[in-house]
Order: sequence, then structure tokens, then C-alpha cells
Amino acid sequence: MEFIRILRLLAYSLLFIFTSFLANGQRCDTYEYYKKYPVTNSSATSRVSETSKPSRDTLSNEVITIPVVIHVLYNNTVQNISDAQILSQLQSLNNDYRKLNADASNVPAAFAPLAADARIVFCLAKIDGFGKATTGIIRKYTSTQSWTADDGMKFSAQGGDNAWDSKRYLNIWICNLFGRSLGYSSTPGSQAEKDGLVIQYDAFGTTGTVAAPFNKGRTLTHEAGHWLGLQHLWGDANCGDDGIADTPPQQGFNNGCPSFPHKTSCSINGNGDMFMNYMDFTDDACMNMFSKGQAIKMRSMFAAGGARNSFLNSAVCDTNSVQRGPVAIDPVETKMTVSLFPNPAIKFINIESKNASDLIGQIVKIYNMYGGVVMSQILLTQKTTIIIQHLPSGIYFLKIGEGKENKTLRFVKE
Ligand SMILES: [Zn+2]
Repeated sequence: MEFIRILRLLAYSLLFIFTSFLANGQRCDTYEYYKKYPVTNSSATSRVSETSKPSRDTLSNEVITIPVVIHVLYNNTVQNISDAQILSQLQSLNNDYRKLNADASNVPAAFAPLAADARIVFCLAKIDGFGKATTGIIRKYTSTQSWTADDGMKFSAQGGDNAWDSKRYLNIWICNLFGRSLGYSSTPGSQAEKDGLVIQYDAFGTTGTVAAPFNKGRTLTHEAGHWLGLQHLWGDANCGDDGIADTPPQQGFNNGCPSFPHKTSCSINGNGDMFMNYMDFTDDACMNMFSKGQAIKMRSMFAAGGARNSFLNSAVCDTNSVQRGPVAIDPVETKMTVSLFPNPAIKFINIESKNASDLIGQIVKIYNMYGGVVMSQILLTQKTTIIIQHLPSGIYFLKIGEGKENKTLRFVKE
């Protein structure tokens, strides 16, 4: 018996070494998944939701909000990641898609003019498919110890959890992937029941179970890029291209963190690879930008007729819609009605709106009397409390939104 146990241990050790080796080169399984399950039938997407609102186009400066539902599938308590870990991931994801990531300043000067604010944000769904309130987080025990990239986690009948309406929710499954693969995405136009992202439980977020070098939430930033139509920089080919004009062709993927410039025989100029782009395979701490071309590509998915157009009418992050059932809100018609209180304030201020669409996804900036920005953050809820205790006493201006759609409020800090 002892001999069998030793043999089994040896087999597990070898498997571990093999899979660790695999994980080193396999940051993302999306390309392998595409090859195995190509989108061959566009009618596969015809299972549309009941939304009857005619499709509209995106507005050029519009901040697009994507409601998210998180399916946490756990086989042990460690895999049942905390709410705090999930929220840390949403915050870093939104920072990356709004170019508010702290490491945006690390983009090399040669590429800095190309770094983009994609003006896309993600919120936890507040309304489920039946019009009832939800936290947007589902937790489910599974007897499956590890999953492969064959979509089993997307079906309750296979020990996973069924997708919510993928025309209105971005489904994200958190689970233990075989071989510590970090994640994969479906491609736009794939079967509705399989549409979404799968992320390894310890490569999700910036706190909790995460471990370096995948501890800054960039696995989800990368996979959401695929979900929005982006390819890997090298187009998954030797010296390939991703079809985006401002990302240079690359020989292949980069690991770890190269130093700039990283040139190969495929480089078109001295700047070499854009290895700090989220769509490469470098370490989380090494990635810090989407390009402007990539932002245009991702936003094009929401245009009339685009694969993600239905999300413009998804109001499931709006608590006003609870019980009344999901209703479409057209942000074009929305007039911002925002209140700020208390005023004067000492420790904190609250900003609140009757319409979630007025605030969710907007950037709020606080200016001092001299026009300097003293604080800024992205609003993720209908009511937000901002701590102002540390600010010197005086008059401040709070500006919500940008462009034509903005509102400025004045308050006094005592
Ligand atoms: Zn990928």
C-alpha cells in the first residue's frame, strides 16, 4: 500500500512540474479555444434577449457600462474568493479601461501617445434575469476539482453554473483551471450559453488568493479584451499582426518583463514590441496600456449591428429597475440630476442620483479654488461617499463626467 502511495505521489509531482511548465508559457487559452471551437454559424447568436428597443449607435464620448455577473465555482474554501477580492478586480479592471491605472506612467515615451482611455467600465449587476435584486455574485460548490477549457463550468448540468442572458450580462466564471492556466474568453458571436470569460481563482483581483506575477488583475483586463474583439498582438502567428494599425507586428508573445526597446527581426522600427500592452503575455506588473486602435476596435463592438450592441440597452446595474423588471434607459435622453450632501462637510460628502446611469461609470474630480485636481475616482454605484477629511478647509468644486455631459457642484470643507 505504501508503495502505491509513493507511486501516486511521484505521479502527482511529475504532473505538477509538467503543468507548472505549461502555465509559464500559457497565460491565456483563448487562441486554443478558438481553434477547438470556431464560430462557424452566425445564427448561433440569434438567441437574443427579449429587449425590443431598437438598436442605437454609440456616442463618440459615451462611457459604455457593461453589467457583470460573477459565478464563483469552488471545490474548497480557498477557491471561494471573497467579495473584497472580486471588488478589487472590478476596480483595477475599470482603472485599466479608463486609463486611470497608476502604472500608466510606465508606458515608454515612444508608445505613450498611443495609450488609450477606452471609455468602457464594468459594474456588478444589481438586477437578475427575473427583475429581482442581486449582488451580481453567485457562489456555488462544485465537486469538480479542476476544469479544462471545454466550457463545462458554464453548465449547471456539468457541475458548473448556467450563463445569464449574455446579451445583457457579461458572464465571468471563477474556478480552478487545470494546469494553472490563467483564463480564456469566448469570441464575439459565439453561442449565447457559452459567451463570457473564465478566470483562474488565484489570478483574479489584486488581493486575497492572488500571487505574483499575476496579482494586478490583468488576466481579466486581457480576457475582456478578447471578449471585445481583440487578438493577441502577434495575431497568434510567427511575425503576425493583430489587425490593429497602431500595435506593431511581433514575432510572438513576451514573457516576464522585457526592457524597452525589445526588438526582433519582425520589428518595423527601433521601438520594437509593445510588450507593455494588455494583449501580450507579460507579467501583470509589466502591462499598462491599450492602444488607441484597440480602443476603437473594442468600442466598434457596441455600434449598431455590432456583437455587443445589446449592452447599450442593458440597465441591470440600475437599482431603480428592481421589481419593475429590466427596462432600457437611453443615456442620450438622460439629464444629470445629482445631489451632494452634507454641505458644508467635515469628514465626507455623498453624491447621489435617482438614475444610476447618471453616475455609474463616470469620473468624478474634485478641484480646489485654484483649479488643481485634488482627488479623482470612478463612480461604481448610484450613491457614493467620498472621504474628504484630509483636505484643507476651503471651497471646492466637484465635477462629474466629461465633455458635454457633465455637472459641476460646489461645496465647502470646514
Ligand atoms: Zn489571450
